Amino acid sequence: MNYTIEGYNALVERLLELSVAYYDNDAPLVSDFEYDRMNNELKAMEAAHPEWIRPDSPTQHVGGHVSEAFAPVDHEVPLESLQDVFSFEEVTAFVERMDGAVEAPHDYVTEPKIDGLSVAVEYRGGRFFRGATRGNGEVGEDVTENLRTIRSLPKTLKNAPERIIVRGEVYMSHETFQTINARREVEGQPLLANPRNAAAGSLRQQDPAVCAQRMLDVIFFNVQLAEGARYESHYASLEAMAAMGLPVVAHTLCKTPKDCTDAIAAIGEGRENYPFDIDGAVVKLNDLAQRQTLGSTAKYPRWAVAYKYPPEKKPSRVVDILIQVGRTGVLTPKAVIEPIRLAGTTVTNATLHNQDFIENMGVNVGDTVLVQKAGEIIPEVLEVVKKDSEGFFRFPASCPVCGAPVVRDEDGAAIRCTGAECPAQRLRNIVHFASKDAMDIDGLGPAVVAALDRAGLIKTPAELYYLDAQSVAAVDRMGKKSAENLIANLEESKGRGLGRLLCAFGIRQVGAKAARVLARNFASLDELMAAGEERLTQIDDVGPITAKYLTDWFASEQSQHQIRLLREAGVSFDSREEIADTRFAGKIFVLTGTLERFTRSEAEAVIERFGGKASGSVSKKTSYVLAGANPGSKLAKAEALGVPVISEEDFAKLIEE
Ligand SMILES: [Zn+2]
Repeated sequence: MNYTIEGYNALVERLLELSVAYYDNDAPLVSDFEYDRMNNELKAMEAAHPEWIRPDSPTQHVGGHVSEAFAPVDHEVPLESLQDVFSFEEVTAFVERMDGAVEAPHDYVTEPKIDGLSVAVEYRGGRFFRGATRGNGEVGEDVTENLRTIRSLPKTLKNAPERIIVRGEVYMSHETFQTINARREVEGQPLLANPRNAAAGSLRQQDPAVCAQRMLDVIFFNVQLAEGARYESHYASLEAMAAMGLPVVAHTLCKTPKDCTDAIAAIGEGRENYPFDIDGAVVKLNDLAQRQTLGSTAKYPRWAVAYKYPPEKKPSRVVDILIQVGRTGVLTPKAVIEPIRLAGTTVTNATLHNQDFIENMGVNVGDTVLVQKAGEIIPEVLEVVKKDSEGFFRFPASCPVCGAPVVRDEDGAAIRCTGAECPAQRLRNIVHFASKDAMDIDGLGPAVVAALDRAGLIKTPAELYYLDAQSVAAVDRMGKKSAENLIANLEESKGRGLGRLLCAFGIRQVGAKAARVLARNFASLDELMAAGEERLTQIDDVGPITAKYLTDWFASEQSQHQIRLLREAGVSFDSREEIADTRFAGKIFVLTGTLERFTRSEAEAVIERFGGKASGSVSKKTSYVLAGANPGSKLAKAEALGVPVISEEDFAKLIEE
């Protein structure tokens, strides 16, 4: 191979960047397969040019550092990592190498490699004693209390040796991962990137109660150390672990290279049946004494390899393109394709990401595209391989679910439905409406909203105010008392006022802060709705984009319907900001000249809202004279009396703070 030092440095930097995204930001940028392949290329470069090796190269320190938050645990038997191979040829070469090195009869065990977080768990006298993460393989973190919350981890073993340390993998099942993400989406929290990172993040929570909520699982694949027991083979040790009551990874006994690659292929084909992700398959020499003799290199044991499944790609024809609307209102295009078998699953559709992606690729219905699936990642369209259509697919101008207009995010490629009553977004919209910064309705969290929705009691936020205690009490797990409380809390929330109501609408760019600013500038919702875009942009902190979002939102039929329902239910549309904010208490203002940003009555309304008074004539008691263009004699009088004179800009600052 012809390597260059420039190429080497670029690869080191790319890998460092990827590992920061992976370990510290919980957000991998490339597939594991891709990462591993780059890492292997780096190793090959360093083997050819040891003089290039940088101290910060990812090969010089094993990923995953020991955190200071957990007590360190020295692993009595190191938790080694295995050498990766990427083809059946390499697996065959490994087996042939073993066959050459070991003369006595021998066989192999093939297992799926679980994509989770590696741990060592110790039992003493058959009782769970301690558990630690892998860390750097030599020293890990003590996560005993968090491991204790895992239900599939036995706390006592049957007929266990006096002391045993077993190695396993903590994972988050697909089902749990989906449940948690569905909840986070409704609550507006960032989604967990993948089950593996979710498991790692959960196991390293400081509070075991938080870890418990993540419903992790564990499965074991190795005896690290056993005092008071002896196992001839790896296979026998796995069977013994299972007999003790430990969940143990599936294991297949193999003799020949073909047995091994057949077992690997079978694991790959069946991977959809596992509750966890797998990131490969492992082939290990079975006999433990033979392993001992072979030992390890500086980095890996000589007696095992880990096969990595490549992402599979196949062509298929696009028969349709569907637009799905997510709970946050984002429109996502999905290509419906002729069924193909990929990475152990039948794939009938693949994501097209967004409008820009479609446009760049020039894809439309009828084209043949290349589809890729890597592990558990959603299948994606990679490229058009045969163009049989005209042009590219265009997003509709309105939401396919509710018909409301769609808008493109001001800062990205996402296209969103703006419907206040969009069924696709209803859960999230209602949860947001009731949240702390919005209408602050006690007892109306995501779980209750979901239950009310399942019972068919509410479809839009405003319908909350039409609930009655009797129907709510009939809902799953609600009961009479909590139903009555909820109705009382809803009643109370009607008086929250304009600021919170505006926030509750969930208009883009109008969060709690912007909503408060708006409520300070208008006495009521009706006054705000009557104001045009121009008037809105005159308010500090309200840009033209926000002003447009506001006027568009108020103009929509669905929003108008919501407002009508809220008004009829008796929800207050008045600004409450004057009660909270009495910054002008005791202050007397006199206005003179022509104002540009306010009409005279608007300025007076603002003064009164903040607890001040507007007067017609200047006296010693006057606090400020607000002077516009062409001021009259009042200005001269103010100056004579020493009353402070302020400009319109000064006034705007006073009210915006
Ligand atoms: Zn919609």
